[in-house]
Amino acid sequence: MGSLRLLKWTATLLLLASACKQPAATVTPEKETRPHRAKEGKGREAKASSEDGKGDEKSDDAPQKYTVPFAWETSKAEPLALTRAFLKESFEDNKTYMEHGPKFFSAFADAELPRATVVTCSDSRVQPQAWDETSENDDYTVRNFGNTLTGDEGSIEYGVEHLNTPLLLIIGHTGCGAVKAASGDTSKLSKAMQAQLKGLQIPKATGAKNENQAWAQGVIANVHNQVNLALKKYGKRVQSGSLTVIGAVFDFRDDLGQGAGKFMIVDVNGNGESERMEAFMAAVNEGPQAGKNGKKSGKREALAPEEAIRSLEQVKGIITREVASASNDSANAGHVD
Ligand SMILES: [Zn+2]
Repeated sequence: MGSLRLLKWTATLLLLASACKQPAATVTPEKETRPHRAKEGKGREAKASSEDGKGDEKSDDAPQKYTVPFAWETSKAEPLALTRAFLKESFEDNKTYMEHGPKFFSAFADAELPRATVVTCSDSRVQPQAWDETSENDDYTVRNFGNTLTGDEGSIEYGVEHLNTPLLLIIGHTGCGAVKAASGDTSKLSKAMQAQLKGLQIPKATGAKNENQAWAQGVIANVHNQVNLALKKYGKRVQSGSLTVIGAVFDFRDDLGQGAGKFMIVDVNGNGESERMEAFMAAVNEGPQAGKNGKKSGKREALAPEEAIRSLEQVKGIITREVASASNDSANAGHVD
């Protein structure tokens, strides 16, 4: 780099760095380095423009561009520093991920074949590796604040009805901010937030020993609510056996006393009784012999197919059609209420 070019380069950086420290009002849009402030400015400009009757060139629909942020921050805690650090790590992680090689990616390059439509909260502490280390082409995941069905109805429909996943897995989590917010006064929140939280109807906790327990109760109640909503909508599929709706909770706080990070099923097709959950878990973990040999015997002998089916039928609560048959609504339900 020539010395003149270096000088210009340094001057540019200094200019950008100083612009970064200036209040938004003194920075022209072209030199703006803080997008969020620039947006505020944009709103004001658009309003002024329409008041002046100068046409609609700066209307909200017009595409906007802001200067690519590039400045040296004075602290690692500054938004731009955090952004750059995040992206730097992303590129490093991606480089490592690419080491899987072309064979790994070509396996799913042309077809999406997930087994599960997963609906979970957007919470940054909730990540799929908690329940699936190899989620590629297996988890079709929809995330929103509070893991609601109403929050992303179309996306969930795509997973269930177009990708035909045999499992709809709804995962709530302890410490959920959406559950807490929906349990309190939402009147001061934005309309968009209120609309999102309307998808959660949290009953008042009963018999909770402390606030965390009450909160966890709310989390579980929300999962049951979302499962029930899903059963109303997809009852036909559940009845035919082509879909199972599972409600689960991921407990990274150990509020439920099963160990920090525990992923547990709390609802299977509308059933939440502990006996049925245990029977279902035994069937999941042990297969058809669960009803016959059980965990206590320690035996895992292979059963003949017809014997295995009889054995499975003996597991209390495994074969359940109550949800589908008890409600005629489910047969013709075509929308989320
Ligand atoms: Zn949450």
